[in-house]
Amino acid sequence: MRTPELTPPPSTPPGAAQELDIDRSDPAYRRWLSEAVGKVHADANRSADTHLLSVPLPAGWGVDLYLKDESTHPTGSLKHRLARSLFLYALCNGWIRPGRPVIEASSGSTAVSEAYFARLIGVPFVAVMARGTVHTKVELIEFQGGRCHLVDDARQVYETAARLARETGGHYMDQFTYAERATDWRGNNNIAESIFRQMSAERYPVPSWIVATAGTGGTSATLARYVRYAQATTGICVADPENSAFFPGWRDSDPGATTDTGSRIEGIGRQRVEPSFVPGAVDRMMRVPDAASIACVRALEDLLGRRAGASTGTGLWAAFRIISEMVDRGERGSVVGLLCDPGERYVEKYYSDAWLAAQGIDIRPYLERVEVFLTKGTLGQASGQVRGA
Ligand SMILES: *Cc1c(COP(=O)(O)O)cnc(C)c1O
Repeated sequence: MRTPELTPPPSTPPGAAQELDIDRSDPAYRRWLSEAVGKVHADANRSADTHLLSVPLPAGWGVDLYLKDESTHPTGSLKHRLARSLFLYALCNGWIRPGRPVIEASSGSTAVSEAYFARLIGVPFVAVMARGTVHTKVELIEFQGGRCHLVDDARQVYETAARLARETGGHYMDQFTYAERATDWRGNNNIAESIFRQMSAERYPVPSWIVATAGTGGTSATLARYVRYAQATTGICVADPENSAFFPGWRDSDPGATTDTGSRIEGIGRQRVEPSFVPGAVDRMMRVPDAASIACVRALEDLLGRRAGASTGTGLWAAFRIISEMVDRGERGSVVGLLCDPGERYVEKYYSDAWLAAQGIDIRPYLERVEVFLTKGTLGQASGQVRGA
């Protein structure tokens, strides 16, 4: 970068405003930036859209369920979309510089995807994560050329990431602030636009509901803004796990809500209401017991022959509840949920009976309820249900 030269013109009359001009343009940096943006574009150009899977339900119900399969992105989760958006946003804002590291606070999946994009553009990457994150994600981050910095308390990730960025002259990406604004919510093949395009030839092309979950809140914000912008009647439901601050924060209109314990459902449920969560655009929220989330992903394996992470189960439980209400009212239509990441990452967690026992989680009552739902269309009442509040 050139040092700007400030030579006061001799002709400035006394008392007049001094004319100033600082030029910080740096052609070498702009060439690097242009190449980096080009590499991210080229990666998108090589990528195919994700499938919208149809989940078989009894035909007589007149309700169709679909899952947007985000596990087929190159880095295995819906965070691939987010990481691409965050890198483009940060690059175009001038926040990422050649040779300087990108640092992120993450529960794992975002870091896997960001490590991929950091390597793509040739900058170092450091993920700050809680020690309890499954080891598979640490391995995936390291496989993508990233480094992991583990902290004991999940609530330390933000400050630690900010500090590491200060100390190294790097950039703290801060997905929990920027996820909602980094994505082009009006279109540009975002997840919402893709769902609507893929639904267009179905018998109920405009979903009655789309069910999301919230980690950053970015996905639900994109879906909610898009359906409003597209003037669709679709409702947006966010399913939230135990120990998450999003549900009480939304219910009580309290952005300061916090919880004492971390979420056991990786990828979703935060101990604070993240700035990137857009509560006003969400139509409905459900708190889903962890046992129900895990029972649902176990049941999904029988339905689709596919394994998924537990956040997919959290959304699936909420989708089942909505469908049971529609069946009960004789209402026809479609519901779309998300398959967020693959179950293979969690073989020693959600698919391990030993882990469930150690956590004191009994999924059997929920497995039975899912079985009743899949045959009769009824899920049973939620213990706490409020309408229109
Ligand atoms: C991040 C994440 C979510 C939620 O997505 P957000 O857009 O961050 O709210 C759901 N499931 C998994 C596995 C995730 O990693």
